[in-house]
Amino acid sequence: MADIIKLLPDHVANQIAAGEVVQRPASVVKELLENAIDAKASIITLVVKNAGKTLVQVIDNGKGMSDTDARFCFERHATSKISSAEDLFALHTKGFRGEALASIAAIAHVELYTKEAQNDVGVKIAIEGSTVKSQDITVVPNGTSVSVKNLFFNIPARRKFLKSDKVELRHILDEFHRIVLAHPDIAFHLINNGTELFNLPASNLRQRIVNVFGGKTNTKLVPVEEDTEVVKLHGFVCKPDFAKKSRGEQYFFVNNRYIRSPYLHHSVMAAFEGLVPDQHHPGYYLYLEVDPNTIDINIHPTKTEVKFDDEHALYAILRSSIKHSLGQFQVAPVLDFDTDPNLDTPYHFKDKEVHIPKVEVDHNYNPFAEEVSRSSAVKNNTMYTKATSGASWEGLYAGIPETVRKIESDFGNIQIESDVENVDLFENQMQQEATPSFQLKRKYIVTPIKSGLVIIDQYRAHQRVLYERFLKNITVEKGASQQLLFPLNMSFSSPDIAILQDIRDSLEQVGFMFDRVEGDMVSVRGVPIMVNESEVQLVLEQIVQEVNDFGSEDAFSQSDLLAKALCKSLAVRSGSVLQLEAQEALINDLFACKDPMVSPFQKPIYITTPIADLDKKFM
Ligand code: ADP
Ligand code: MG
Repeated sequence: MADIIKLLPDHVANQIAAGEVVQRPASVVKELLENAIDAKASIITLVVKNAGKTLVQVIDNGKGMSDTDARFCFERHATSKISSAEDLFALHTKGFRGEALASIAAIAHVELYTKEAQNDVGVKIAIEGSTVKSQDITVVPNGTSVSVKNLFFNIPARRKFLKSDKVELRHILDEFHRIVLAHPDIAFHLINNGTELFNLPASNLRQRIVNVFGGKTNTKLVPVEEDTEVVKLHGFVCKPDFAKKSRGEQYFFVNNRYIRSPYLHHSVMAAFEGLVPDQHHPGYYLYLEVDPNTIDINIHPTKTEVKFDDEHALYAILRSSIKHSLGQFQVAPVLDFDTDPNLDTPYHFKDKEVHIPKVEVDHNYNPFAEEVSRSSAVKNNTMYTKATSGASWEGLYAGIPETVRKIESDFGNIQIESDVENVDLFENQMQQEATPSFQLKRKYIVTPIKSGLVIIDQYRAHQRVLYERFLKNITVEKGASQQLLFPLNMSFSSPDIAILQDIRDSLEQVGFMFDRVEGDMVSVRGVPIMVNESEVQLVLEQIVQEVNDFGSEDAFSQSDLLAKALCKSLAVRSGSVLQLEAQEALINDLFACKDPMVSPFQKPIYITTPIADLDKKFM
């Protein structure tokens, strides 16, 4: 048989390796920034266009490269940083595999300008898909500029799988944050589509954190410092009362390299135990210095995991130093988390007059007629509107004009299938007086139906009701706002501001009113009727977090995301006492929903127990 094994040509090998190093524009950002830092630059500028899909450029004032090195740096395994495998263990630079530039050049159009201080002129190299197109002598400042254009131009499949600009920019910002937080002594600029997003002067760590995350961060920071045999620790944790429901800024750096460590994260959480309510996340920026010989940084360029020789000691040191700092800065004693937040009615109108709802029924309702009208997408689904008018949930508390909050079933072109049987469930009772119901464990509402018993999860039910209402506000009919007496000013990081700007229209549709959303400030003048003034920041943070985590490519998923985030934060929790009227109103509203069976997060909302089943139990 003929020999069949052949060596892959270099450009193919490079393309394959590239896929490992470069997943998206943010990977290029990371590699180029790290090279600039390794070159001892003191000022680094990052320029991106279209979230890096069109251009990623990094300009540094570092040591530059000689002519030969400039050509050589694009070869695979070309690195100035190690010469033997042992060097890997004593590593103090970022890169070491000599793979990044070769990989990037294999899948993009790259232009390199570089000059060393001792030379009068520098060199320019253009390279496309691993092929050198030109090499010229040129007059440039000391340092290096690498521009990477048209990423994945020769791998269309990869290019197609890039996410929206918003999502890709978010990844870039994540990398940028990790790097600028690790190097406060270096000045950084970030310019996106011609707009300067960050201008970070060289500074100390506290100033760097404040410059990145906004002016108000300063008051949140509690310094942490510890010097032991095993580890030198410094940095900041955020005061517990600023803990957010969303996982905000949580950073570990080991020997100035950003890492993820669920284990160390756990030790921080342990230090905060009892100080932050459940499901709240304290922010932290913690810097560990350990002997490089005692750690194993996974030698994969995109991995950020580290194994420590002495994990247990690190865990204990971290936890006790943070506890100590929190105590020392007297953060801990002033807090009182004993009150159960679940017991607070989430609405600010809780003290307002209570209106007993009237249940109105459409006696002419005919489920079969209904089916016809729905399938022909006709407006005014009479069953839903009439059954719920006057019984709307928050109407109980707020006494807000019914017309504002009347649920209509028409969701415009968003079709949600619903099950006619469910609507039918209450037919008999609704025609009589009020349906008796009671609350079980402040969690479920139990009520009879014609065929037996229904048990409703109150939190999920309210989520469903709110979700459909907000979705409708966003897509069909603007939600009502309440003006605030004084505008609320809140600080957000600039990436978060970018997200808020993106979804501002939708937010206004549900009833938010903004005076401004720019810089690091958001000024809110009005909020949706259901949102308590004290919750505004939390709600906005949660929304930003959701958009950030799940992205939103199109208009529908954005509306869906927003409605989900809002209903999640505003729905009445398990543990809340519901008066009889509130229970009834919730039941009515739920069964007026398009999809009363499952919560927006696809969890069952209620179960039914037929009389026959009960009968069986008594046999
Ligand atoms: P690595 O960083 O792993 O060594 P790279 O492919 O990222 O591999 O870079 C290859 C080499 O090119 C580096 O070792 C360094 O000598 C040189 N180099 C890359 N970027 C710069 C820069 N901005 N300034 C000076 N030298 C650079
Ligand atoms: Mg490198």
